[in-house]
Amino acid sequence: MASTICGWCGDRTHMTMVLDPYELPPAVWPTDRSGSRDRDRPVYMAAFKCSNENCERLSVGWTSLHRPTMGHPKHQFPRERLEWEPVKARRPEFPDVPEQIAATASEAHACLSIGAAKGAVALARAVVEATGKAKGVASIGIQSKINALRDAQIISPLTAATSERIRKDGNSIAHGDIGDEPISVDDATAILEFMDELLDEVFQRPAKLQRLQQRGEERKAGNLPGQQLPPAPGGGPA
Ligand SMILES: [Zn+2]
Repeated sequence: MASTICGWCGDRTHMTMVLDPYELPPAVWPTDRSGSRDRDRPVYMAAFKCSNENCERLSVGWTSLHRPTMGHPKHQFPRERLEWEPVKARRPEFPDVPEQIAATASEAHACLSIGAAKGAVALARAVVEATGKAKGVASIGIQSKINALRDAQIISPLTAATSERIRKDGNSIAHGDIGDEPISVDDATAILEFMDELLDEVFQRPAKLQRLQQRGEERKAGNLPGQQLPPAPGGGPA
């Protein structure tokens, strides 16, 4: 079993191996620094079935194994990080976030879902910068914007501290120059999770709570649908 996002249905599912891994010809193996095929890195490919009962479509997964240390490919495959085809670009929606920021955040997730970690992080940083600006924060740099949002009580001290924590763990939402840092998919995942939490705290949760309050007020005023008398025939809203 291997777990991934199914490129067909978009669910995170377990993939059941239905065709054992077989070795691909050396022409598609990775090359070493000199440009010749790395004989220690044969590439194996296998077929998998999606376990979502409304999908069950096939995907192929492949990876290069390290020949000197590899066990049986069939047993080793579930432990490896595989490349997958097809891949589904994930584009979540952020309905209560200003349109341009929401579109950029969605694109950051699309990048991550196809393994484009640097692109994902670059866009996530742009989202955090724009979020600060949208809330009137003028300070330069991402971490100082995050701190200013904390000082204005728009985000909690915990959120600001989490940004610090991610920074200390290595790659940061607040790192200055994306060109010279290695970014793994795991780093990018953590940074995007932080971005999502920030958008939730700054835009989505207040909007949701405001709707709840509005509903309470309308209910008090007897204006909620269902509490009124039915409109007379031919009258009332369509
Ligand atoms: Zn599926």
